[in-house]
Amino acid sequence: MDRSLRIHIVGAGIAGLTTALALRRAGFSTVVFEQSAQLGEVGAGLTIGPNAARVLLHLGLEDALQPFVRVPRHVGVLDGISGKTQSVRDRGPAYQSEFGAPLWHIHRADLIQVLAEALAPQPADLSLGHQLAQIDQDTDRVTVSFKHGASSSCDLLIACDGLKSGVRDQLFPGDPPRYTGYAAWRGLAERSRLPDPAIYPDFAIYTGPNRFFARYAVRQRSLVNIVALAQQPDWDQESWSLKADIQQVKDAYRGWHRGIHDLLDAIPAGQCFRWALHVRDPLDQWVSGRVALLGDAAHPMTPFLGLGAAIGIEDGLIMARCLSDSESVEDALARYQSARISRANRVQSESARQGLYLLNRDPSQAADRSMMGEDPIGLYGYDAVSVAI
Ligand SMILES: Cc1cc2nc3c(=O)[nH]c(=O)nc-3n(C[C@H](O)[C@H](O)[C@H](O)COP(=O)(O)OP(=O)(O)OC[C@H]3O[C@@H](n4cnc5c(N)ncnc54)[C@H](O)[C@@H]3O)c2cc1C
Repeated sequence: MDRSLRIHIVGAGIAGLTTALALRRAGFSTVVFEQSAQLGEVGAGLTIGPNAARVLLHLGLEDALQPFVRVPRHVGVLDGISGKTQSVRDRGPAYQSEFGAPLWHIHRADLIQVLAEALAPQPADLSLGHQLAQIDQDTDRVTVSFKHGASSSCDLLIACDGLKSGVRDQLFPGDPPRYTGYAAWRGLAERSRLPDPAIYPDFAIYTGPNRFFARYAVRQRSLVNIVALAQQPDWDQESWSLKADIQQVKDAYRGWHRGIHDLLDAIPAGQCFRWALHVRDPLDQWVSGRVALLGDAAHPMTPFLGLGAAIGIEDGLIMARCLSDSESVEDALARYQSARISRANRVQSESARQGLYLLNRDPSQAADRSMMGEDPIGLYGYDAVSVAI
C-alpha cells in the first residue's frame, strides 16, 4: 500500500493511540482527532492480558512500560462474604512461559501516557479539542466535519470513538447503547492506609450473589485498584461516569468481607468513580466504504473478562498489518474485518456469559475455574503479530 495514504483516526483512547502507533511503525502517518482538550484517563487500573502485552512489546514499548507495569504472582477467587479463599492459581512467570508474554496490571493513565509519548516526536499528529460531528464519503475520500466548524479529508477514517461512537450511529443506526442494570465503581486505594498492607493473593476476585469485587496492585504496589460491580436498576443520572461517594459503595457491599471495606476506606475522597455499564449488540459488519470501526466502537463489551481494551489493542495491530499487506483500502478493510470480527464478537459474548456466572450463581461454585476466566477459554493465546490475515 502507498505509504502516503491519508489516514484519520477519531478518538485518542487506548485503541486509537495503539492504532496510530502501529501504523506509524508500519510507515504510515496518521492524524488522530480527540474531542477532549487533554489526554487522560480517570484513576483506575487495567489488566493487560498476554494477548495485548504481546502487541505492546511488538510495538517496541517494553522499556517505556517497564516502570509502570506489574506482573501479579497469583490470582485468587474468594468468597465475597466470608473472605475465604476458594482457589488460587499461579499467574506470574507461568503465564509468561505459557503464552510467551506477561499479564500486566497498569494504571490506565500510565498506559495512555506511554502510548502518547511514543507518538510524541510528531505531536502535530494529535489534534485535541476536535469533536467529530459528521462524516461524508464518496468512493475516493472521506470528509470529517467537527463541531467547531473545521473539516478535513482523508483516504481512510478509523473510528476509535468508543462505546458511544457517533460514527457507528451514523453508519449502522438503530442499535443505541443499552444500560445493563449494573453499575461499576473504580477507585485506587492507598496501600499504606490498609490495616494489613501485605495483601494476598495479589490479584483477588471476590464473588457473591449479584456482586463482584476485584482488586490488584498498580504503581509499584503503592496503590490497589478496585473494581466493584453491583446491580443498580435505576441509574438516576444522565452522565455515564461520575464521581462516587464511597459510602454508596460501602452500602452496596454491606455484609461483605471486612477486607473489602478496608480497601474502600483507603480510597482518598473524590477518587472513586461510578460507571453505568452499557452494551451494544455485536455487529456483523464494521466497515462501510472507507470508514472502519475499531476498539469499543466496534465491540463494546462488559468488563467481566477484563479484555475490552486488550481486544482494541489487537485490532490496532491487525489494521496496520492489513494496510501494509494490501494493494487497496477496500481490500485492507475487508481483510481487517474478516480477521477480527468473529474473535471480537466471541469475546463480547464470553464476557456477557462470564458476567452471568460471576453475578448470579451461588458463590460456593466460584471455585469452578472451568467456568471462569479468559485463559481456560483460550483467549490469551491469540497472537496478533503472526496470525494469518
Ligand atoms: C469497569 C471497567 C473495567 C474494565 N477493565 C478492563 C481491563 O481490566 N482490561 C481491559 O482490557 N479492558 C477493560 N475495560 C474495557 C476498557 O476500558 C475499554 O474496552 C477501553 O478503554 C476502550 O478503549 P477505546 O479506545 O476503544 O475507547 P475509549 O476509551 O472510550 O476512547 C474513545 C475516545 O474517543 C473520544 N471520542 C468519542 N467521541 C468522539 C468524537 N465525536 N470526536 C472526537 N473524539 C471522540 C473519547 O473522548 C475517547 O478519548 C474495562 C471497562 C470497564 C467499564
